[in-house]
Amino acid sequence: MKGTNLDTIPFIDLPEQFRALAPQIRAAMDKIFDDASFIQGPPVREFESAFARFCRARHCVAVHSGTAALHLALLACGVKPGDHVITAPNSFIATAEAIAFCGAVPRFVDVSPVSYNLDAAQLEHAITPRTTAIIPVHLYGQPADMDPILSIAARRGIPVIEDACQAHGATYKGRPVGTIGSVGCFSFYPGKNLGAAGDGGAIVTDNATIADKIAMMRDHGSHRKYEHDVLGHNFRLDSIQCAILSLKLPHLDNWNEKRKDRARYYTERLQDVAGVAPPVVATDRQSVFHLYAIRVSDRAHLEKQLHANKIQYGIHYPTPIHLQGAFAALNLKEGSFPVSEQLSKEVLSLPIFPALTESQQDRVIETIRLASKNLPPLATLGNT
Ligand SMILES: *Cc1c(COP(=O)(O)O)cnc(C)c1O
Repeated sequence: MKGTNLDTIPFIDLPEQFRALAPQIRAAMDKIFDDASFIQGPPVREFESAFARFCRARHCVAVHSGTAALHLALLACGVKPGDHVITAPNSFIATAEAIAFCGAVPRFVDVSPVSYNLDAAQLEHAITPRTTAIIPVHLYGQPADMDPILSIAARRGIPVIEDACQAHGATYKGRPVGTIGSVGCFSFYPGKNLGAAGDGGAIVTDNATIADKIAMMRDHGSHRKYEHDVLGHNFRLDSIQCAILSLKLPHLDNWNEKRKDRARYYTERLQDVAGVAPPVVATDRQSVFHLYAIRVSDRAHLEKQLHANKIQYGIHYPTPIHLQGAFAALNLKEGSFPVSEQLSKEVLSLPIFPALTESQQDRVIETIRLASKNLPPLATLGNT
């Protein structure tokens, strides 16, 4: 299969998504420029109500990134300096960063070796008298096991904030993520399942008080111009991004279905390949496969073969958050969270996007099958 005339298989194909909607997007841009309604214009409110409907949430507040959404959700839930906030160590850094920027301390709970999401069985003993929020992450698009997390949190009156930045449209026991906990946080970073043409984010909630606080805090603590009731920041999302997101949103369910089809195709063909393990989705959940991450026993070997066959891939994530330099002050050593640490050495994300073709996938699968001849058996996850 090796050859210089192979086309590159991209990890994601953003230009393709924009090309399909280009005429509508250009017309929407013309209107915004004609009206000069760049900030908090009608497109913002239109997108907020459309996204709330999509999530079956009462309220949506658009903000300028997923990180801002997490930050404001924590503040609106009353998280203060010195508080403890529980989350998983195998997420993108933003989850823990948002906690730290509230002056709170991230307290990590290791993840389930099956779902790679926060292990509810280990949650109880991580709670302290200073714990004021819990942030499960719906990693790769698969919802975390919310029911046990919510029941432990509810007994202590601790709010649960969902990091749904990778899971737009995913469902847990038939409910869309975002309003299963107190607040849901989304990112519209271009590569996400619903992506803007730049940065973007949103919170959704059924709680009017929380929605109102966040709406004020994203705009300098103000409801009316030059009246500032509380301290806020400039975390607004532009009309331009909201107009683009509103045009893309009606396609999201269809795009998610295509991702699920592509994921099924991979899983059926990688199930029996030695040295690799496809992802497992619990039967009570629907993953929207923001990422399709396999485990592989010798990642460096597979990386070489993918590279030689012009197949792009990703690693999500090569370093768990507790071992990042930014969190060195927490003094958490290697060995603290064995499942997350082992995953960081084994996971590899294959190309997945709605327009991925079966022939592209066949080349990825064939490359993995050939590489697997030189792969040692996969170790049991978390068996240390
Ligand atoms: C993308 C992402 C974020 C941050 O979103 P931004 O819009 O990039 O700020 C937070 N958490 C997770 C799990 C993410 O994937």
